[in-house]
Amino acid sequence: MRARAAKPKKQLDIAAERIAILFEEAEKEFAAHPERADAHARAAKRIALKYNVRLPRALKEKLCKKCGKFLKKGANAKVRLSGGCLTVICASCGARQRYRFK
Ligand SMILES: [Zn+2]
Repeated sequence: MRARAAKPKKQLDIAAERIAILFEEAEKEFAAHPERADAHARAAKRIALKYNVRLPRALKEKLCKKCGKFLKKGANAKVRLSGGCLTVICASCGARQRYRFK
């Protein structure tokens, strides 16, 4: 089946911008209101899905794929390097996400 027609370029740009803003907000809120940070991160993910845009790798690493929590390295996420892989481990659900690393 053919993929759904892409949305207009302008909408995609706006979507990418909103995602970036949401992650910025999540970063700011994380210390005082972690649950708000989670909500921002989830909203960003929803926008990415709706507009079929990729979450940039740097932002993707900040979202747990399993429980949808906002991950901050050193706070609620552990980062391990091994065998050419960067592993981000979520502290609340224990999910591991691996990324290629060179
Ligand atoms: Zn998790």
